[in-house]
Amino acid sequence: MKTSPLLLTLSLMAAYYSSPQCLRVLCAPHSALSVLNPFLPIVSASLVVAQPAAPLQPELQVGMQIPEWCRALPRPEYKSLQRVLPDDPWFEVYKVVPGVFAIYEPHQAEEVISYLIVGNKQALLFDTGIGIGDIRKVTSKLTSRPVVVLNSHTHNDHVGGNWEFTFVYGMDTEFTRTNAKGSREDAQAEIAPDQLCGDLPKGFNPKTYATKPWKISRAILDGFKINLGGRTLEVVSTPGHTPDAIALLDRGNGLLFTGDTYYPGPIWLFRPETDLDAYVDSVKRLAALSPELKLVLGAHNIPVAQPDVLPKLVEAIQAVRSGQGAVKPAGEGKATHSLNGFTFLLAAPRKE
Ligand SMILES: [Zn+2]
Repeated sequence: MKTSPLLLTLSLMAAYYSSPQCLRVLCAPHSALSVLNPFLPIVSASLVVAQPAAPLQPELQVGMQIPEWCRALPRPEYKSLQRVLPDDPWFEVYKVVPGVFAIYEPHQAEEVISYLIVGNKQALLFDTGIGIGDIRKVTSKLTSRPVVVLNSHTHNDHVGGNWEFTFVYGMDTEFTRTNAKGSREDAQAEIAPDQLCGDLPKGFNPKTYATKPWKISRAILDGFKINLGGRTLEVVSTPGHTPDAIALLDRGNGLLFTGDTYYPGPIWLFRPETDLDAYVDSVKRLAALSPELKLVLGAHNIPVAQPDVLPKLVEAIQAVRSGQGAVKPAGEGKATHSLNGFTFLLAAPRKE
């Protein structure tokens, strides 16, 4: 049988998706994909126009267009969590513990999780997602109290809905101020076909999709406290993944929101703004908090982890930096380093 060019291209895509490189959270980022598979940009463009992404039921769809990361969903850990607002077309919302909602985006490869933390007087939204769904609509259904925004850091997948809110805290860094101006390139890469799993929301326009600029209402520093009424949140500066990365500590309830400094899945530490020495110092700082914690809540994939993961993370990243662990190439200029259940996506050493 003669193979048509389209079938050949789709088979190449399928071969790629099932390859070991496919692992952002489980799958490699778009930039790496484009380099490895020169057919993809052409297919991507035609698929975006002709074929809306498949619903989150891979087995019901024609197999070739479903990225591997999407096939693995839903993640089993969600079964034990209480789902609320089940009708939202983009977000899945879970009540993790009293007053804390995880707002999860399973239709996009980052599988970002933002958190709404509700006090008696006001609520804080820790990250605003990728900017594809309307997160303000979700928070307004979850609480009638005023909502202020704070970001775990200002990578595009965590600030997409900032513009929708009137009060946004920002870390007092140049990196934060630059990102607050918005951008288009990183946002566009998030909606390549291999990055999507299911339908985009009605009214979403892929052509104009960009991270919209937002206004920083108040610049803050390490140690800043926000009283929500009956619940106080404390900013713990954790530079490393980015210069403005923070964790958010709810000491009274033993909760630590770790952003991208820790989440279950390959931790991205390859970008130019990442500082590995600072990262190690930051995870040590978080590990020191672990005895007083009940739950660790990261910003991708799964919203719950046990506090003892933090000292283990310190050991793992230090061992990896001293050359231990299994190393696999993961797209141009990157490699995954895996050890004791942790995976770090690092920049590959430069060839001399
Ligand atoms: Zn990030």
